[in-house]
Amino acid sequence: MSHEIPFLKPPDQAVFRDHMETKVAHWIRQWDGEEQLLAGIIGIPLSKASISHSGASTTPAAVRAAFKSFTTYSMEYDVDLQDLAVRDLGDIHMHVTDIAECHRRIEASLRALYNAQPDIIPIIFGGDHSTSCPSIQAFVSRHPSQRVGLLHFDAHHDVRNFEDGGVTNGTPFRGILESGAVQGDHIVQIGIRGFMNAKPYHDYVVSKGVHVYTSRDIRRIGMDEVLTQALQLVGKGTDVLYVSFDVDVIDQAYAPGCPAIGTGGVNPWDALDALYRLGTLPQVQGLDFVCIDPTVDVRNVTSRLAVQFMLSFLAGVAARSK
Ligand code: CA
Repeated sequence: MSHEIPFLKPPDQAVFRDHMETKVAHWIRQWDGEEQLLAGIIGIPLSKASISHSGASTTPAAVRAAFKSFTTYSMEYDVDLQDLAVRDLGDIHMHVTDIAECHRRIEASLRALYNAQPDIIPIIFGGDHSTSCPSIQAFVSRHPSQRVGLLHFDAHHDVRNFEDGGVTNGTPFRGILESGAVQGDHIVQIGIRGFMNAKPYHDYVVSKGVHVYTSRDIRRIGMDEVLTQALQLVGKGTDVLYVSFDVDVIDQAYAPGCPAIGTGGVNPWDALDALYRLGTLPQVQGLDFVCIDPTVDVRNVTSRLAVQFMLSFLAGVAARSK
């Protein structure tokens, strides 16, 4: 026999709820395994491939916690996202010790997802940046008859040699270029910073035809112009685009919870505008955010920023059909 206890609410309903307000946490429910989705949230809790201390494996949980902090409505973009079919697919299960096996699982899981959901826009939360190599490999295999272009936001080229450390968060674009999955002139790197990369790696990407815009370029000519030029370059000979966004491209003043924090970075407003604009483009069909370390963050600000980036991107996606 159950008793009605006045004013007593179950734990999941105990927080304040304004019945006129929809939070992102209410909107992005768990996927039921069947609903055809516009976009899906996928966590990749891997940080053992990071060359520096990283708790990036806790990012998916930190991001989900931040879903409670945002509403689905933006007067800035004149949009309410709550009717978009965006669901949380969960995390790709990582092996405890075998990093190569982790990378195999990422590619296998995403390939199977793309077979089941041919039109889904994956929004992936790593994990360290090593996860982007298998993510992009799966994305390329999804589009066998189309050529893929990459927009890579990062403070770093991420083309370190394999001899010193193997496959790490410093090598994803070395892996992509060496495998031939995406050709160099179909890649644009945006936000790369001086005094944080070695000359041989800059020479390497330039020799492969990769287009590079530095953080200083953004400061001097503006993100909008950089993006216009980048899209012209990456659009030549490609059909679909994938965006890999290392949050350490943002200045450490705004994104202190990254393993490779640095000064002189991009400001969040430029990145929010860029992600909205990328969201509006139908050719952009995949996105990842990587290299956040919530264990060194301040009040979850870096994960919260990543959620705001995601929402700005989705506001752009919502504008595609208008
Ligand atoms: Ca990176």
